[in-house]
Amino acid sequence: DAKRRGTGRVAIADTAPDNASTGQLDLEDELRDALANDGLALHYQPLVDVHGRITGAEALLRWPHPQRGMLAPDVVIPLAEQGDLLAELDRWVLRTALAEAVTWPEIDIAVNLSGPPTNEPGQLETLSKLVTASGIDPHRVILELTETALLELPLLQQHAMGHLTERGVAFAIDDFGTGYSSLARLREMPAQIIKLDRTFLPATDADETSVAIIRAIVDLCRATGHRCIAEGVETRAQRDLLAHLGIDAYQGWLFGHPVPAAEFRRTVITGLRRR
Ligand code: C2E
Ligand code: MG
Ligand code: MG
Ligand code: MG
Repeated sequence: DAKRRGTGRVAIADTAPDNASTGQLDLEDELRDALANDGLALHYQPLVDVHGRITGAEALLRWPHPQRGMLAPDVVIPLAEQGDLLAELDRWVLRTALAEAVTWPEIDIAVNLSGPPTNEPGQLETLSKLVTASGIDPHRVILELTETALLELPLLQQHAMGHLTERGVAFAIDDFGTGYSSLARLREMPAQIIKLDRTFLPATDADETSVAIIRAIVDLCRATGHRCIAEGVETRAQRDLLAHLGIDAYQGWLFGHPVPAAEFRRTVITGLRRR
């Protein structure tokens, strides 16, 4: 049976006219199963302050698929969207990440939320209940949304977000600068943190345009009271330049790759307990 071979390609086209999309449907069902049976995983990547101290971690979704290997969010998220599973996925991710982080010492846990469910009435309240149920101090929780998702948030959801903020939960604008909004709209976005997308990071400090853009964004964050985290920091040169420009915190391979929970505990959390 071609669809069971796991490539998603049509091997014997005339036996099953719609084989390619059948494969997709299978994968969607498998995702539904994985969600219901804890078959998904989260990897954790450190957030680091200007002194090199680890102040938190971002939870990043992975799907260890038995035949297809480790599937990344760029495969899993669109599949979840097609299967109408985004809201459930967000709940699973938040519940799982908080259950993990509540066992750590006082560092932050950043969790990505999908745009569409956050527009649904009740979803943010549900997420708020998950924060309560986890027993974690809400001040340790960062919820990441894209600027497009934030700007499209209906009024009712803005209220729900306000409640979360009052409880101490921080919101971060993910991939800042890649949306269609103008920088001036930062003022209107109910978030405390912006995460500068890694496409803005200059390859070298001779890249004057990139430097000028980052400088402008950092200045804007100062003016609007947002904390600014740089994503995708890979080299010391980038870190030094970002420090010079006044970035508040970093995330990237220079400081640590995303790793499974057990490895994060062994390599990062153990070190925190010792300091
Ligand atoms: P993001 O939230 O902007 O996450 C940062 C992405 O950059 C991650 O990709 C991370 O592995 C990658 N990255 C980290 N450091 C570096 C670096 O130094 N260099 C480079 N080149 N890349 C780096 P990943 O894990 O593939 O996630 C991609 C996107 O998928 C995330 O972007 C986020 O938007 C989304 N995503 C991840 N996990 C979840 C989740 O649990 N739920 C939802 N709704 N979306 C998620
Ligand atoms: Mg993120
Ligand atoms: Mg990001
Ligand atoms: Mg990004």
